[in-house]
Amino acid sequence: MKADFNSYFSNLYGSRWEGLSKHLNSPEKQICFSPFSHKSNMALDGAFEGLLSPGNHVYSNPEQSQSRSSAGHLQNYIMDPASLAPVLALQVHPEDQVLDLCAAPGGKSLGLLSQLGEQGHLLSNDSSPARVTRLRKVLEQYSPQEIHQRFSLRNKDGTKFGFFHPKEFSKILVDAPCSGERHQIHSGKTSEWSLKRSKSLAMKQYTLLCAALLCAQTEARIVYSTCSINPVENDEVVRRFLKKKKDFVKAASDVFSESTKNALEKSVGLEQTELGWIILPDTQGYGPIYFSAIQKTS
Ligand code: SAM
Repeated sequence: MKADFNSYFSNLYGSRWEGLSKHLNSPEKQICFSPFSHKSNMALDGAFEGLLSPGNHVYSNPEQSQSRSSAGHLQNYIMDPASLAPVLALQVHPEDQVLDLCAAPGGKSLGLLSQLGEQGHLLSNDSSPARVTRLRKVLEQYSPQEIHQRFSLRNKDGTKFGFFHPKEFSKILVDAPCSGERHQIHSGKTSEWSLKRSKSLAMKQYTLLCAALLCAQTEARIVYSTCSINPVENDEVVRRFLKKKKDFVKAASDVFSESTKNALEKSVGLEQTELGWIILPDTQGYGPIYFSAIQKTS
């Protein structure tokens, strides 16, 4: 018999589902992320540590989002801070060549760009032309003019990216299209959910990961992320990838320092899964976001 949305997730999450589904149904909690503030070296780690002081970063005034730096760029990007955890897990260094394979509208790209120095470069791609237009606006409006040469944009099908950019990147984010159950709940479309659709998205997610592997330099790090709460689109995609590509990849170790892990647990409710991490809104109100870090070995 075909499982419906509620019975499927209630079966999966057990007694946690009642509370979790309520939180998934409530408005998203967002913050002002200021990637290029004076404290930019603190921007990523600091976004989480700042969350620990109540009210510090929480977005409350719409005017705030419009404030500009003296250099003219917009300072505060409004986003769910849980989305920055996969960016942090990628461990970007100033000189990295970074690929954001599914990048629009661009919150994570902004976080990645903020970690780069003069030698570094970010290539942000999305397959949707309309979303690339939005991505360009976000990156241009929210970053200082002098670092605009550190990023470029593409509008390609990410599953084919490996052919055009073989072994080019040292850090790759695959923030894959997913079922987005929170969005389905909010738009009253849970009746359209099906396990079959999740499984078909999982195939696409796996194909995007394979493309990322082709684009990766030896020793490169790949972070896979989704906003799905379904393990079919999360750990199971990673499990298949680690198994099928075992001669080329392994699960990354040392993803977070102890202090960052503690800050993420306390501020956004980070939890470990078998092969990655998840942030669910029934802890601190943030998420959902799942991610897993993978290391290319040869
Ligand atoms: N990383 C983005 C951010 O933080 O703002 C959110 C990305 S959203 C979860 C997934 C994106 O994947 C969508 O913008 C969608 O247009 C894009 N997408 C879907 N299929 C794709 C493909 N085959 N190649 C590249 N991008 C794709």
